[in-house]
Amino acid sequence: MRKLNCLRCETEMNYVSREKFQLGQTGWVLGDLPNLFAGAMELDVYSCPRCGKVEFYQVQEAENHEDMLQKQCPRCGRMHDFDYPKCPFCKFDYNEKRR
Ligand SMILES: [Zn+2]
Ligand SMILES: [Zn+2]
Repeated sequence: MRKLNCLRCETEMNYVSREKFQLGQTGWVLGDLPNLFAGAMELDVYSCPRCGKVEFYQVQEAENHEDMLQKQCPRCGRMHDFDYPKCPFCKFDYNEKRR
């Protein structure tokens, strides 16, 4: 939980709850990154008591941090840093897959 001020009216926002959102395997906005968030994503929900604005913040716990920086190669199944354009183990090319 953190202290947040509403972007709109600068009132201190109330912490509402922590929600789990189940994510599918299909790459919606994230393109090649769905593996990164496969499963559930936890979000903290805050609301402004004055104007009713609701904000979501992704929970970034220490134990999730390693996963955030890695993705699983679809060909060999090994984990590597997600910003690699190619799998360092089997040379799977992510850009080639997209064409
Ligand atoms: Zn507000
Ligand atoms: Zn690989």
